[in-house]
Amino acid sequence: MAYFKSNKIDYHYVKPIIKFPCMDCEEEAVMHAMTTNWSCSSCGASGTISKLIATTSDTWKKSKIYNPHTEKNKIMKLFDDLQANSNSKKMQTLKSRVSHLIEYYESKMP
Ligand SMILES: [Zn+2]
Repeated sequence: MAYFKSNKIDYHYVKPIIKFPCMDCEEEAVMHAMTTNWSCSSCGASGTISKLIATTSDTWKKSKIYNPHTEKNKIMKLFDDLQANSNSKKMQTLKSRVSHLIEYYESKMP
């Protein structure tokens, strides 16, 4: 994980899995934090941390993956901004319903 941090590569860590952009197709690849074995279900690429270290592609290093945690925070911030500019109670209701829905799915996650 220190590698991702120090090289500013986008990643999302949910113990013991690190998600990061695949070096070949830039889709989401998964790595086991202990073994550093990783694979990409989109293009079939795989390897260990040493393969990532050997890659110097700047395009890859700048690519991003979808981070549901960051996305949720951004959505909630948007609701707050909209609420501040509206007198509609519906906005507040919408925010709490979306929030409830997300929490429902989060509780179903392994
Ligand atoms: Zn791939």
